[in-house]
Amino acid sequence: MKIFNTLSRQKEEFVPLEPGKVKMYVCGPTVYNFIHIGNARPMIVFDTVRRYFEYKGYEVNYVSNFTDVDDKIIKKAIEEGVDAETISKRYIDECKKDMAAMNVKPATTHPLATQEICGMLDMIQTLIDKGYAYAAQDGTVYYRTKSFPDYGKLSHKNLDDLQSGFREIKVTGEEGKEDPSDFVLWKPKKEGEPFWESPWCQGRPGWHIECSVMSKKYLGDQIDIHAGGEDLIFPHHENEIAQSEAANGKQFATYWMHNAFLNIDNKKMSKSLGNFFTVREISEKYDLQVLRFFMLSAHYRSPLNFSADLMEASKNGLERILTCAGRLRDLEKTSGDKPISEEEQANLAAMKELTAKYEAAMDDDFNTADAISALFEMVKLANTAAGEDSSREFVSRLRREIDTLCDVLGILTEKKEEVLDSEIEEMIAARQQARKEKNFALADEIRGKLQEMGILLEDTREGVKWKRA
Ligand code: AMP
Ligand code: ZN
Repeated sequence: MKIFNTLSRQKEEFVPLEPGKVKMYVCGPTVYNFIHIGNARPMIVFDTVRRYFEYKGYEVNYVSNFTDVDDKIIKKAIEEGVDAETISKRYIDECKKDMAAMNVKPATTHPLATQEICGMLDMIQTLIDKGYAYAAQDGTVYYRTKSFPDYGKLSHKNLDDLQSGFREIKVTGEEGKEDPSDFVLWKPKKEGEPFWESPWCQGRPGWHIECSVMSKKYLGDQIDIHAGGEDLIFPHHENEIAQSEAANGKQFATYWMHNAFLNIDNKKMSKSLGNFFTVREISEKYDLQVLRFFMLSAHYRSPLNFSADLMEASKNGLERILTCAGRLRDLEKTSGDKPISEEEQANLAAMKELTAKYEAAMDDDFNTADAISALFEMVKLANTAAGEDSSREFVSRLRREIDTLCDVLGILTEKKEEVLDSEIEEMIAARQQARKEKNFALADEIRGKLQEMGILLEDTREGVKWKRA
């Protein structure tokens, strides 16, 4: 398998740190509103990467955070007259509903920045102790970029150029910086903002430190893949490398993957241009599988343009696949129990070649566009080769292969069965029991399963409440 690594700007053979295992970290959204369709691109792309690794037999530990302390969250909380936690909790729940509707699997762990402050204080202290960071008079802690010789290696920027660029920009409140390119690890609280105690001042973390800390806690000092949208290369990921590698003394991630941006009608998506769509808005018009299929119709490193025409084309394309799978499912019920004929054998061999074509596309830096072309060829083959006279085994093999390859793309060929309330309640009771027995791993697993079924849980003082997403 080859992956384009932003670090080397080349496609490289994938070699995991531990055979058969993949540790990946994907930077998640800042939760101050419903997610927009741009945010959905990395979610769908890297969920597909995960699914393909799983298809290949890897065990994937997938971590994706929610940034739940940030200026935008605080601003929204002030506007609504509630606390920041009310805002972040609300939009985490809404984001999880959108993820479920886009068939994005829940991460192995979804850490929250506000729950990891202790780890952040530890890492900042380590950086200070090692000389990579310093506290200014007002209690702000800065990272000393000059102390990290590799600074700029991901974004391929030169620190001297950066420094001369930054020198022009004067930021009020950051007078204590030794150098303009230094960045904030911890900052003093402002009136009305959430804050935590620290050795330097009452305050809150800078944005970049949370990912270094969460990645270390849930995946270890070294991981295989770190991913996100291309806007995160600089400064966010560059700063994460500086923090993690300086604190841990080891290479942080082997591969850095970045998706290109989603534009709307060939323009940058922005609220001020009035071309801004949330995933929820799109769900009023389309099944979100269509949005998912649309996102995967282009290679993840190519810019993607969103338009009504392209969504209609995706809807029709997806319909073609789903109709084929539905027809095979019907034929499976009616076709005869007889041996596979020679002609059917030949068709299965052709199918196998198409699977190889699909895999070759995915092995080549997750080229979902070409994988979908192979899938369409399969549909064409199945539409002509399977009929009333086919053997059940033949029809069933075609159907299973198409289902499996759709599943890798996160496309469900059959509507999810409606789950009965009684089944859900039984699962919730099992989760409560597991919690009582302090088996939190099992409790989390059950919660994850429920989430995959589109069931959201809320722990309240009166007990556990649930609702369908
Ligand atoms: P944010 O909440 O802004 O930190 O974004 C969460 C994720 O969405 C990051 O990985 C961003 O790079 C990504 N992202 C934001 N806007 C777009 C867009 N228009 N196209 C693709 N990815 C985006
Ligand atoms: Zn991050």
